[in-house]
Amino acid sequence: MMELPIQTDLTGKVAVVTGGGGVLCSVLCKALASSGAKVAVISLHEESSRKVEEEITADGGTAKGYACSVLDKEALAACHEAILRDLGPCDLLVNGAGGNNPRGTTDKEYFEAGDLDSDLKTFFSLDNDGFEAVFNLNLVGTLMPTQEFAKDMIGREGCSIINISSMNAFTPLTKIPAYSSAKAAVSNFTQWLAVHFSHAGIRVNAIAPGFFSTRQNAALLWNEDGSPTQRTGKILAATPMDRFGKPEELIGALLFLASEEAASFITGVVLPVDGGFSAYSGV
Ligand code: NAD
Repeated sequence: MMELPIQTDLTGKVAVVTGGGGVLCSVLCKALASSGAKVAVISLHEESSRKVEEEITADGGTAKGYACSVLDKEALAACHEAILRDLGPCDLLVNGAGGNNPRGTTDKEYFEAGDLDSDLKTFFSLDNDGFEAVFNLNLVGTLMPTQEFAKDMIGREGCSIINISSMNAFTPLTKIPAYSSAKAAVSNFTQWLAVHFSHAGIRVNAIAPGFFSTRQNAALLWNEDGSPTQRTGKILAATPMDRFGKPEELIGALLFLASEEAASFITGVVLPVDGGFSAYSGV
């Protein structure tokens, strides 16, 4: 079992983690299993969710992998049925599926006269479908699993939802308007849900990771030869702790927010885990 930064007893609880096969959320799945939860690992592709299932099971924990799109209502319902059968009703939902797409990204940070006549992907030539895909994955991909799994939480104690937002939700990052606005919507939706579910006893919070070097942002952070991009230099200069985060550094925030003992009066917060990025003005 994984060594944990804080002890939270989640024995008997069922945790459903979307995007659980990914770089960050696979670590969160392992932390939840090491805290005693039975973990439903949902990914778009079966291979990655099964891999996390196998790793947790080999380590003595309880997990089951499922392949399902967070944007497919019928598939979510079928996945929910399977989880109820295999593990039981959901106590904790982590909405981790998300990410950016190059089709929602501009080539340049600043628009300049003359760009319209170039081959560059400018704000004006952004692909609407690409923009929509990013918005859907992050926001609607948080909405739909919540509609499906929060039903299990009604009338039961100690249930909560944890969404995954991002630094770009506080202040947008250059080049990625779709991802920035989608994550701002995730933070806003977290607050809305927290209020909406407050009488139902379901706490809703979010974690806003700072910069973690993972697969989904690799093309923005590293050149093909492995050297850091100019953007990496800017990120590190704007992160007072002067480094990227390690996925394991999200575990403390997750277990704290998931803990009914530690966070029973905490709902509607978006907790940055960012090495100081969101606190730093740059001066
Ligand atoms: P990742 O690409 O490694 O993992 C993403 C996961 O989401 C994968 O398991 C993938 O199968 C799943 N997924 C994608 N589309 C899906 C769909 N339609 N239905 C179901 N699952 C789907 O990404 P990551 O870096 O681990 O990011 C995890 C979360 O953290 C995302 O929400 C991301 O936006 C957020 N985040 C990441 C960083 C970072 O620095 N990596 C920073 C802030 C926020």
